Formats: sequence, C-alpha cells, structure tokens
Amino acid sequence: MITASRIKERIELLGSIGESNGNGVTRLALSKEDKEAQALVRSWMEQAGMEVRLDAAGNLVGRKAGLDPDAKPVVIGSHIDSVVNGGKYDGTIGVIGGIEVVQHLLEENIEAIHPIEVMVFCEEEGSRFQSGLFGSRAVIGALAPGDLDLRDKHGISRREALMAFDLNPEEIPDTVTRNRGDVEVYLEMHIEQGPVLDTRGLPVGIVTAIAGPTWTEIEVEGKAGHAGTIPMGMRNDALLGASEIAIAVEEICMEYVGAPIVGTVGRMDVLPGGSNIVPGRVKMSVDLRDVDRARRSEALEKLRVRAQQIAARRGLRVQLSERMTVDPVFCNDEVVNVMVEESEKMNLVCPQMISGAGHDAQLMASIADIGMIFVRCKDGISHNPLEFAEPHDIALGTELLSRVALRYAMKQVTQPSI
Ligand SMILES: [Zn+2]
Repeated sequence: MITASRIKERIELLGSIGESNGNGVTRLALSKEDKEAQALVRSWMEQAGMEVRLDAAGNLVGRKAGLDPDAKPVVIGSHIDSVVNGGKYDGTIGVIGGIEVVQHLLEENIEAIHPIEVMVFCEEEGSRFQSGLFGSRAVIGALAPGDLDLRDKHGISRREALMAFDLNPEEIPDTVTRNRGDVEVYLEMHIEQGPVLDTRGLPVGIVTAIAGPTWTEIEVEGKAGHAGTIPMGMRNDALLGASEIAIAVEEICMEYVGAPIVGTVGRMDVLPGGSNIVPGRVKMSVDLRDVDRARRSEALEKLRVRAQQIAARRGLRVQLSERMTVDPVFCNDEVVNVMVEESEKMNLVCPQMISGAGHDAQLMASIADIGMIFVRCKDGISHNPLEFAEPHDIALGTELLSRVALRYAMKQVTQPSI
C-alpha cells in the first residue's frame, strides 16, 4: 500500500536534517547534513529490499533486482540537496516516492521483470559549488573540465568534498557514466514549484516538456552626469533605456498569447550608482524560457530590435551578448500516454503541462526516454521555508509513479531472434 502517512513521516524526518529554527532547510551537497540524510535514505532503501551504493559522483543508488538479469533498469530519480533556506519537498518527494514504489512491490509480493533503481542525484541545486545538476551530468557523461575544481565559499573543491565521502572522482567516467540503451525509462516526480496546479485545484500534473532557458547579458551605455545640472531633455540616462528594455521583455513574451514563453530581467547593475548621478551604464540579465526553440529565438531577435530602437531614440548604445543556452527537452510520447492511461484508471484529472524549471530529467533525456509527474504545491511557493505539498497529493502522485514504473518494469524483454 502506498500510504500518505508513511510519506509524510519520511518527509518530516528528512526535512529535519539541516533545518534551522524557522529558516527552512539548508542541506548542501556532500556536507555533514547530506551525509546524515544519505544514511537515512539508505536505511529506507534497504528496508524496501534494495541494494545500495554511493557512486563516484556522489549519487546514492538503490537497486532492486528484477526477474530477468538482462533487463534494463527502470530508473526513478530526484535529489535531496536543497537551496540555502529552502523547503522540505523540493527533490525529496521524488526520492521518497521512488522508494515507496519499491517498498510497495515488496509488501505486495510483486516480482518485476526489470530491475528498479532509485537514484538520488548529487548537487542538483548547485547551492554549494554554484554548478547544479552535477550528479545527472556525471551519469550522462557531460561534466565540464573544471567541474571537480570548483570551490565552495570555504575554499573546498568538489573533488576534495567527494574524497571526504571516501569517493574517487577519477572513476566517474568508468563507473558512473551510462549510455543510451542502458536505461529502460527514466521517471521523476517533483513538486510543481509554480502555481498552475494549485490555481486549477488539481493535485497532480503530467509534464510534457521541460523549457530551456537562454541567458542574455545586456549592456546599456549612456552618459553619466550631475543629477542637478543636466536638464531632462538633454540626458542619455542608461537606466531609463534599460527600464524600457525590461518592459519590452514582458511585452514581447505576452504577444505570444497562450504560449508558455516567459521572460525575466532579474538583475540590473546601475553604474556609477549614486543617488545624485544620472546613470551612465547599466548591465542587466534577461532569462528567456520556452519549450519551442524557434519561438524563443524569434523572441530574442525581437528583443534585439526593440533594444536598438530604444537606444537610438534615447541616444544610448546597447549590446546584447548571449551567455548560455539550454535546449528544451520533451518527455517521451509513449511515457506521457502511459501516464494518461494510468491516471484515468485512478480517476485522476491530470493536466498536461510544461516544466519551467530545470530538473535532472532534462539531462537524463539525452540517454533515456523520460517522463515527469508534478505534484501541486501550496501557492506555487518553492525554494522557500514556506514550501508545502499535501501528503495526500504526494501519495496520489506516487501511486501514478508506481503504476507507470510497473508498466515498464513488467514489460517482457523481447529476445533477439536466432
Ligand atoms: Zn528540485
């Protein structure tokens, strides 16, 4: 039986590690709190009959063998690291839900054909070494050359942090990395981290795609001057131009009525930055996300044109530089269909939706067919001590996860014909 009470109890227990009175959970990857949390999760995995190992990249992997030794594993993953002063549900519900799926098999005496693995990915959030999705990047063989040399704010490198966990990061390519064809299917359950399900009054959603962000740095250059002496009509105020550009980001995204494109200016550095100085220069960031790459590029192009027009009208210079672009990924159609079928059997109305946030699933998509389940979170609040999801909703999501995992884990392996 998948029980909301056991799920709730485990969320509370795990959430108490790294909790500081009223300030939420701070559980950074490969920290003392992470070690304690891993030990707890390991004990749950063992209770569910899994063999557990910590791989060289710091991913905790529980594996329940299947009847067919040649069958590829059904992998259920998420993470237990948190942001600084984060919540108890981000990542953890996917891990606890995955273990619940395997525990359910044990309790119901169901023997699956495929192995089932629950993967707890190392440093999804990037809160310690400022570079997230580390564990899943290691699994798909996409670590950047400097990844192990990154240092935390105490000067400890990621390599040193892994070694302090008795791991040898040099073994990552040989022992952690997997290839396409090594995994039957990858499934992840996560809180939505947005307000869509809560607003619609629905507990569970089926993810069809994960949006890819593109980050652009914009620099607006005007002329700094005395705030008291330059008449209003004779200024080249960089901040006013930058502000118009920020509004243009909103307008451009909203032109695509009904499309999931979102744009955000999250940072503006105003220089020289004095209350009695007309701003001479502004550096600003633009985060543009969509599941449609062409639409995202078109929006960025529109922004480029609008920025030039604004700059010309105000006598400013503007420069846009693309910093990083991540491709959107799509959940596998068949996995989505299986999710829809199983949710209908549960009489659950599940909207199909996109994920605006990145997840380990996004990386795993490069080696496996993926599927994702979203669980409603209160007011869409996440990365915040107030983050909350109802245990009953998480249990419904877990039941859907379990049904979908079993559909794949029970699949007969077709023998190659001789
Ligand atoms: Zn997460």
